[in-house]
Amino acid sequence: MSNGSDRSGKASWKPATKAVRGGLMRSEHGEISEALYLTSGYAYDSAEQAMARMKGDAPGFVYSRYGSPTCEMLQQRLALIEGAQTCRVTGSGMGAISSAILAPLKAGDRVVAATALFGSCRWIIANQMPKYGIETVFVDGADLDAWEREIARGCQLVLIESPANPLLDGVDIAAVAKLCKAAGALLVVDNVFATPILQRPLDLGADVVVYSATKHMDGQGRVMLGAILCDSAYMEDVYDPYLRHIGPAAAPFNAWVVLKGLETLKLRVDAQSATAARLADAIAAHPNAAAVRYPYRRDHPHYAVHKRQMSGGGTMIALSVKGGQDAAFKFLNSLELVDICNNLGDTKSLACHPSTTTHRALTDEEQAAMGLDRSWIRFSVGLEDADDLESDVLRALNSV
Ligand SMILES: *Cc1c(COP(=O)(O)O)cnc(C)c1O
Repeated sequence: MSNGSDRSGKASWKPATKAVRGGLMRSEHGEISEALYLTSGYAYDSAEQAMARMKGDAPGFVYSRYGSPTCEMLQQRLALIEGAQTCRVTGSGMGAISSAILAPLKAGDRVVAATALFGSCRWIIANQMPKYGIETVFVDGADLDAWEREIARGCQLVLIESPANPLLDGVDIAAVAKLCKAAGALLVVDNVFATPILQRPLDLGADVVVYSATKHMDGQGRVMLGAILCDSAYMEDVYDPYLRHIGPAAAPFNAWVVLKGLETLKLRVDAQSATAARLADAIAAHPNAAAVRYPYRRDHPHYAVHKRQMSGGGTMIALSVKGGQDAAFKFLNSLELVDICNNLGDTKSLACHPSTTTHRALTDEEQAAMGLDRSWIRFSVGLEDADDLESDVLRALNSV
């Protein structure tokens, strides 16, 4: 297998080039499309080589829970796109995020997180961490005084998501990073909604970036996969031992699908974002819409933060329908083109009702604390023609 640096990518390449060619490792057959290696184990030339590889003194794979060739190509491609020193992939986004936030912590540590988070991330922090003797506190992600106060009280790790589920809240990543640096806390950023095409948390001071590659990176709704990106020393010291022994390894087939998905990531994100911006304006002008949230619209409460740290508004919209849950359900049930689905980042447009699905585990009070009520719909804009999408959404709004 040739893993020459000539082929595996250059930091100076533009993102689209990195996404198509980064991490390429060709076998002796010279295949153009990345090879899919399905193997659990690897044969060694000698007992001495087995000993050296296991010890880490010789290059090469030892077992696919530790690493495998197709996953390695994806890791190199993702690191190159993100501008990170290194990357590890996992079997799902939550496999990556749970590892990224659990591996560094021990009993007695304290975690500060934004209130608005993906439901499972919130669940780990609210329910699992306290069982391990880790103190956890949630703050309003937009309230820098609250971040300062809680981080100064003692904090080992901070988790934020921006734009965040479900209402696309913004957190000032650079400002929180500065507070974390001063306190010696690790800043982990879930960058799923923005994608590495539109936002680069490491450049803003984050220590670790995590992804659900299930979303825009596959982008065609096929496989589950997650990724952790950070500097090499931290990965080797803190995450590698945890990942190897806890075992959330990614399947090579899923890694191969995401490798192919990445090749069109920029095209898709740019096109889906352009349609999303147009749809957000059309929804905002409709009399049955109580509110619309889109990161690049001036009426978004965190417009200034999003505008500063993102290079585009993204593929997600949140809309509040006049008439509460009944009207929101009527809207969803009236869609003919758009599917009702809690996935996102797909080429197919998808809409869901966060209150009763992705965020149903939260009480009404907890939902209210993140601005969520039963009138809200989360909308993931796909690659269909914008005219068709606009007529479907406006017709559904007319029906409520
Ligand atoms: C989907 C998602 C996750 C979880 O990823 P899975 O691949 O579903 O495990 C985490 N964070 C955000 C923001 C997500 O959208």
